[in-house]
Amino acid sequence: MSRRARGSGSGVKVTVGPGGRVLALSSAWAEDGAERRRRARLEQRCVECGRQLPSRRTPYCSKLCQYKFHGHYFWDAARIYVKRRDRYTCRGCGERRRSRELEVDHIVEIAQGGAALEYGNLQTLCRACHAAKTRAFRIARRPAVPAAPPAAAF
Ligand SMILES: [Zn+2]
Ligand SMILES: [Zn+2]
Repeated sequence: MSRRARGSGSGVKVTVGPGGRVLALSSAWAEDGAERRRRARLEQRCVECGRQLPSRRTPYCSKLCQYKFHGHYFWDAARIYVKRRDRYTCRGCGERRRSRELEVDHIVEIAQGGAALEYGNLQTLCRACHAAKTRAFRIARRPAVPAAPPAAAF
């Protein structure tokens, strides 16, 4: 299933990968996530969508709900879910592509306070559209060229 990123020690809530990307909310998964799955099994309702389950063996009604639920905690699973949700279609240019040719983008960049693992903030982009968006973001963030000295006061 989703590969667990290793935390760098106890008490670490969020595992951050290269480029400051959040990879896993490991402790939330172990605490809140485990509790939600336990309750879902007990009530025989899918932990993600609430649909009735045939048994208590698993808290998920489908593979898709499993990825979706894992994706609240793990970036790898979130990516898989978002590509499926978007039907493997780039939201920039509308092209449908193979999964490996698509990337999952934060609509509001994490650096600007965008949520890392919230589906409302994630979209599928092809590499070209993602690169163009990232470039535009970097340019926008570049410190402004110092303004010309103000014209002499009138
Ligand atoms: Zn479900
Ligand atoms: Zn595109």
